[in-house]
Amino acid sequence: MNETTVFQNDLINATAGTPNIAKKGSLLLRLIRAAQPITRTEIAHRLDIDKSTVTENVKPLISAGILREETLEVSGQGRKPRVLSFVDDRDYFIGVNLGVRTSQVGMTTLKGEISDEDDFTTPPKAEDALKMARERIDDLIEANPDKICRVIGVSIPGLADAERRKLVYAPNLDWRDIDLTAALQPNENVKVVVENDATAAAMYEARLKIRETPNGLLTNFVLVRSGTGIGVGLVIGSEVYRGSGLGRGVAGEFGHMTIVAGGRQCVCGNRGCWEKYASAASAASLYTGDRPLRPNESLPRFVEIVSKAENGEIRAQRTLEKIGDYLGIGIANVIMGVGIPRVIISGRLVYGWKFIEKPLREAIERSIIGKTEGWSIEAGEPQGAAIGGALEVAVEEYLSHGLSF
Ligand SMILES: [Zn+2]
Repeated sequence: MNETTVFQNDLINATAGTPNIAKKGSLLLRLIRAAQPITRTEIAHRLDIDKSTVTENVKPLISAGILREETLEVSGQGRKPRVLSFVDDRDYFIGVNLGVRTSQVGMTTLKGEISDEDDFTTPPKAEDALKMARERIDDLIEANPDKICRVIGVSIPGLADAERRKLVYAPNLDWRDIDLTAALQPNENVKVVVENDATAAAMYEARLKIRETPNGLLTNFVLVRSGTGIGVGLVIGSEVYRGSGLGRGVAGEFGHMTIVAGGRQCVCGNRGCWEKYASAASAASLYTGDRPLRPNESLPRFVEIVSKAENGEIRAQRTLEKIGDYLGIGIANVIMGVGIPRVIISGRLVYGWKFIEKPLREAIERSIIGKTEGWSIEAGEPQGAAIGGALEVAVEEYLSHGLSF
């Protein structure tokens, strides 16, 4: 079964029995956004629906000025295709990525370009960080008086609550129970949606993959975001999975699964968590061998270790190989748990991919997953999507409500 077939089945499953027009509509909007400019024929083909259904769905959006259809100028003879794309002159979205070290605020439109990105060092106190983010939000809104800000997406290095309004716990920042919506909402017409950063990065990668896969949609993958910590985003049937019931928002917290019994102390209170051995940040202590630092000595940054490895330093190379090994051990566990064999690695760790990939694959090959066929590992965005992920959260929220709130 190829990916197109998988997607088609997902669409059929999603719409079987009681036809869920909103669901189908949001897939159509998502496909147009990811693959624009795109013809009606291609949309029909990729969603496995009639061209007349596509026309029915896009017509009101063209009349409302949300979509535009124009003739694509191509060289050569024959009929010139008519293509659909979003008009980007009315609605916009703001993204806030609250990172452990740096944070970003930026904006985008349905066209997809990111603009006005501004970075700041994340202050240790949540209220200071939120004040800085809020100032930038207010500046963006003031600078765009003729446009409508629809949604603010906030990505956080930790757990969001089930309603996606609050930060429940961000271990590497030591922030707990913060109502981000109350702190960041500029007015009641703008919705604020809070999301775990790995889940946000998974949404971002999903859109890139839709664009890169001309004959189908990527539907199922695991995204492992390795930077200061490790976060895992799960995409199942083209949708991110957040958990269910009381566990909603908790799915993907694999960074804190125990990988070494009685191992290193983690900020979460446990010992031997995966992120203490396979995050980009863990490279520093693996490199120094956990010895105490000399006066005026600071821990090497991940990119410094990568550059030493590239210059042939054996200790740096071994450090990255060790991380690859631990990463592979954890990934094999994740694949066994969720049954999704396609894995995308994102975040700072990707800078060291050249040294990490081989031991990572070997660790998976040693596990029971290695005895099966069809698993795959690939490197994604080294920036871990960051602001792109936060913006994706905002736009997805709008699309999933069929552009109507
Ligand atoms: Zn932990």
